[in-house]
Amino acid sequence: MMNVESLDKPEIVNALATVAGANSLDVVGELSEESEMDEFSLAERLGMDVKTVRKILYKLYDSRLVKFRRIKDEETGWYIYLWKFHDDKLDALVQKIRVDKITNIRERLDYEQEHQFFMCENSCTRMPFENAMESVFVCKHCSGKMDFLDNAHIIKNLEDQLKQIERAVGN
Ligand SMILES: [Zn+2]
Repeated sequence: MMNVESLDKPEIVNALATVAGANSLDVVGELSEESEMDEFSLAERLGMDVKTVRKILYKLYDSRLVKFRRIKDEETGWYIYLWKFHDDKLDALVQKIRVDKITNIRERLDYEQEHQFFMCENSCTRMPFENAMESVFVCKHCSGKMDFLDNAHIIKNLEDQLKQIERAVGN
């Protein structure tokens, strides 16, 4: 069973927020303290409405971070779903999110490095040289002039983001 301190780790917080929204952390927090819980008790403890809790649980379920079993309430004859946090998949999820993010940043970095950019003097659009040339360096939106824009700061920013992720992996 996952210890609750893991929920303070930025990577885990980020992974849960990515797949099930920021308030999924509260749901996971509650679930990781109990062996299993139904959604009504969860909602009550968290002061959330049941619909919201259910939505979060379904999203967590899609990422295989929770399991459930169904039991029949003898009094009402209705089914109750008992949810359980399933942390086996958490590491894999963190890993996947990291890889996706690195891939995304690398693609953007390649694009920035392989192109020269032009920006409308009124800042409404930015485009690579080829497109700017096609439109004779006139903005399609406002007819403003398209000027060369140095993208070194964007490249630097993307490189920093990559370094930061790689540093986090080293921990
Ligand atoms: Zn413009």
